[in-house]
Amino acid sequence: MQTHFPPERLADPRLPPLEKILRSCVHCGFCTATCPTYLITGDERESPRGRIYLIKDLLETGRAPTAEDVGPIDHCLSCLACMTTCPSGVDYRRLVDHARATIETTYRRPLADRLARAALAWLLPSRARFRAGLALARVGRPFAPVLKRVPGLGGPLAAMLALAPKRARGAPAPGEFKPSTPGAKPRRVALLTGCAQDPLAPEINAATIRLLNRAGVDVVLPQGEGCCGSLLHHMGHEEPALVQARANVDAWMREIDGAGLDAIIVTTSGCGATIKDYGHMLREDPAYAAKAARVAALTKDVSEYAAELDLVFADPKPLIVAYHAACSLQHGQKILDAPKALLRRAGFQVRTPSEAHICCGSAGTYNILQPQMATALRDRKVANLARVKPDVIAAGNIGCLAQIASGTSTPVVHTVELLDWAGGGPKPAGLR
Ligand code: SF4
Ligand code: SF4
Repeated sequence: MQTHFPPERLADPRLPPLEKILRSCVHCGFCTATCPTYLITGDERESPRGRIYLIKDLLETGRAPTAEDVGPIDHCLSCLACMTTCPSGVDYRRLVDHARATIETTYRRPLADRLARAALAWLLPSRARFRAGLALARVGRPFAPVLKRVPGLGGPLAAMLALAPKRARGAPAPGEFKPSTPGAKPRRVALLTGCAQDPLAPEINAATIRLLNRAGVDVVLPQGEGCCGSLLHHMGHEEPALVQARANVDAWMREIDGAGLDAIIVTTSGCGATIKDYGHMLREDPAYAAKAARVAALTKDVSEYAAELDLVFADPKPLIVAYHAACSLQHGQKILDAPKALLRRAGFQVRTPSEAHICCGSAGTYNILQPQMATALRDRKVANLARVKPDVIAAGNIGCLAQIASGTSTPVVHTVELLDWAGGGPKPAGLR
């Protein structure tokens, strides 16, 4: 793609690398075939290629974005299916991340949108606030259909209520969710507890600890770690996301420099994709760049790490599992086969649905901020999953689990819960 940046624009050190990315696009349009929003709308502006042209124009001219520019960027799920498809290796992620951050600092959104985004940025990254929000959501759940019809804030509020689990999961049973005895096992890892997953489904990390302990891995929960920053980063709130990233780097570096870590284990693939990018996110911070790169290099999705272990599945279950590949796992982290291979090793019959590369519509806060598109994508995903006639649906990302569960009566669980069950752990809560 030809670019026409005035020399004064290229004096901004952030722009030359982005210009290089733009130039690598040969506008072939292959990416449109796997873009969920293009699939639903058929509109070129809602495709990766259309968005690249739009971002190119914003970058070249330096003009302030308008509502017409903001719409297609907001509608992008950051699923990165376009990057998997692109034969020219266009790094679309950097383009859309830059566009989102620019929009947040230069565009004044309508009041309802501003309020919804501010509420999410306040609520989600804090475990305590999110837990309280979930309790409120259970009370407000019956009002979701009425709220849906209220213009402005009604849509996001109704989406939030619909996504909240119907019942409180409660705390895990004593002994289920705590680090193992320090130094007792040959390997040692830190487990991210993060933000939203813990209040929504504490059984996922409990299953992870049991699975890893049985395989000879000590699991520590370092003090001071929390939200990885991806929820804020996804909304274009760059600086607050970096504050969260630095806090996590500090927490993990204390462990790395102390008793040492073999890996930092993440059970929510959206968070894993972001933490693996910490080296890039903090590259301009001299106090953190090297530490962030070290943390990123140590970070592994639980399926990636479990595939290296000598796991014993003493209690295989002959269930049919429809495996849903979270975008952040398959496109963001390029982990496609490890979860399915582990499930097969554990005795499950694994089936892959059609359109496995297409997003379920979860995408961080997307299903709250863009409920219509998210629901269309969820229904398409649920229909494809149902066609393989599963006993249970498995995925490796809490956002996908909540999104898919809101549209089906088939049990939806984390992959690691099934692995733990087949290894001697309790039956997953979603199957009880
Ligand atoms: S597939 Fe890649 S090169 Fe082709 S239009 Fe899309 S981003 Fe550009
Ligand atoms: S990230 Fe996903 S939604 Fe966004 S342009 Fe790429 S394929 Fe489309």
